[in-house]
Amino acid sequence: MTLKLIHCDVLIIGAGGAGIRAAIEAKETFRKGKIVVVTKGSFGKSGVTATACSDRMAFHATLPYTEPGGADNWRYHAEDIYRIGGYVSDGDLARILAKESETALEYLDRLGVPFVRKEDGRIDQFITDGSEYPRACYTGPKTANHIEEALLNKVASMEIRVIEHCMIADLIKYRGRVIGAFGIDEREEARVKDRLQVFSSKVIILATGGAGEVFETHVFPEGMTGDGYGLAYRAGAELVNMEFIQIGPASVKTKLNCSGSLMRAVPRLLNETGEAFLNKYLPRGISSEEIGNLIFEKGASWPVSLDKRTHLIDVAMFKEMAQGHRVFLDYGVNPEGFRFEGLDPKWQQRYAREIKVPIPFEQRGRSPLDRLREINPETIEWLMEHGINLQAGEQIEIAPCIQHFQGGVKIREKGNTSLKGLYAAGECAGGQHGANRPGGNALLDGQVFGKIAGREAAIEAMNLDQKPRIPSRRLDQFLSKLNRMKTGETASRVRKSLQSITSLYASVVRTPEGIRKGLKSLEALRKEGLSIDEKGLVYALETENFLDVGEMVLRGCLARKESRGPHLFFNGFDDLHPLPSQDPVWRKYIVIRNRSGKMVLRKKTPVKLNYHDI
Ligand SMILES: Cc1cc2nc3c(=O)[nH]c(=O)nc-3n(C[C@H](O)[C@H](O)[C@H](O)COP(=O)(O)OP(=O)(O)OC[C@H]3O[C@@H](n4cnc5c(N)ncnc54)[C@H](O)[C@@H]3O)c2cc1C
Repeated sequence: MTLKLIHCDVLIIGAGGAGIRAAIEAKETFRKGKIVVVTKGSFGKSGVTATACSDRMAFHATLPYTEPGGADNWRYHAEDIYRIGGYVSDGDLARILAKESETALEYLDRLGVPFVRKEDGRIDQFITDGSEYPRACYTGPKTANHIEEALLNKVASMEIRVIEHCMIADLIKYRGRVIGAFGIDEREEARVKDRLQVFSSKVIILATGGAGEVFETHVFPEGMTGDGYGLAYRAGAELVNMEFIQIGPASVKTKLNCSGSLMRAVPRLLNETGEAFLNKYLPRGISSEEIGNLIFEKGASWPVSLDKRTHLIDVAMFKEMAQGHRVFLDYGVNPEGFRFEGLDPKWQQRYAREIKVPIPFEQRGRSPLDRLREINPETIEWLMEHGINLQAGEQIEIAPCIQHFQGGVKIREKGNTSLKGLYAAGECAGGQHGANRPGGNALLDGQVFGKIAGREAAIEAMNLDQKPRIPSRRLDQFLSKLNRMKTGETASRVRKSLQSITSLYASVVRTPEGIRKGLKSLEALRKEGLSIDEKGLVYALETENFLDVGEMVLRGCLARKESRGPHLFFNGFDDLHPLPSQDPVWRKYIVIRNRSGKMVLRKKTPVKLNYHDI
């Protein structure tokens, strides 16, 4: 069989913000080196960075003039990542992220990312969820897309080979070192042997992003199936913090996050029968005034977190959906008993700061739609363009949606993983974020650790003179795995079942009993095997990753016997409140590894943020 064998010095898997930044740095470090980027989908059009939008996307950076000021004000940034993250990230990685943020921002600025500036020329910054100071730089709803475009323009002028429409399906390891990867061309029409691409590389950087598709409802684009987590796991690398996943309410139809003004307009939460269900799940005796305040506050704390009492809304929504209901935001009528004057003065002030099209004060209490018109008329327009007409009384169907994986392939300061020859960056990597991730630090992370991984991988490659040779045995093993995908449950069914397991047992409400049930069902799925169906080979290979990612998430959830960040761990499903955090006892992260086919978990103390070293 004739094989497409591609040799390179540095192979980068994934072409989002992290992957492209890594490629640029690798080439600039190792000018004569052969740098190859391989990606699923079209180059620059796949993954989250290239495609995701939201109200106002944030890139966190501490600039010389960022509050609270001072020569080393990035310390506060590092502390936010570490402390607000719940002390379960590596403090030295938090320090690197914060300290390098200014350089990362400047680089993007030089590449032409149109960051919004104030009249005095300084970059405008705002406060995001979970941050103490305003650090979020932005271009608007498409900050990530602008970053991707700027990086693409840069790469176009460099000698970097790009291979698109190719899914990396497995890493190749030899004598404890990663030396290559098997890729499959995504175009299904050709025969398998013509679609196989074998990469041999001195070093590899994983930059494959997150795994939103492993859950039923998410705001990720298509193709985000957690491949990097699966690849690294099967090759034997360590993963960490897989139980910490950012979840928040979003529109099922448009994937728009229902945060900010959409909640600050204080809509009603209804099920499909028109029942206002919140009260059923809130503490007994809670007043309508408190409920109004809670809904308002949800606009300032989108992701589920133990630290924010607004998680009561997510829990209520989740429990209502678990009863088979659908959940909607209604802007036509106020929640029962709501009075605008009943909002806490600090929320009224916040509301006042956001007014764009003022209406008479009396009208403010009339309906959520009146308020939304006053503070964010653009969202009403946007929703209309995307098929939801609030003015005509339509409601927004919402669900708890996955937005970001805080954990991933465990990295250290050089972007290196626990496997020789393997680096990771961006959302695929883990250890740099804790349980909560202050908004804006994910885009930053891709730039900082993308650059570091690119540089360090290139240095390692420069110091290795021999091209790795792929043992034919490994190819045989890979081909026989493909052969085995002829029997068993279809990939489509496995995917659906797995998504339902993760969404039921590893989403907002996690209980020991539920997670055990989920693991049992997952085990049964594994036993049945997985077969290629009409969706094709790549779809089936992605689905194989679902099983590994799903199991890591479930096992991570079960191992953490407390609540922390988005991990709300309940004794029983009907409990009103999650178990408390066991702090500081549980300032540990859970490291997951594949040992001879068995998933092994161990608790480990993260590297502390050492203020004295800063
Ligand atoms: C709606 C939304 C809003 C967000 N808002 C913010 C925000 O305001 N601020 C913030 O900081 N973060 C935000 N995030 C998170 C942030 O955007 C992402 O974490 C970040 O863009 C991920 O970048 P990445 O380079 O790691 O991965 P991606 O940009 O997702 O790129 C992954 C790449 O890997 C490729 N790939 C995957 N698997 C394979 C494989 N097997 N073989 C080959 N290629 C593969 C993909 O095709 C893609 O090219 C948001 C996320 C979403 C979904």
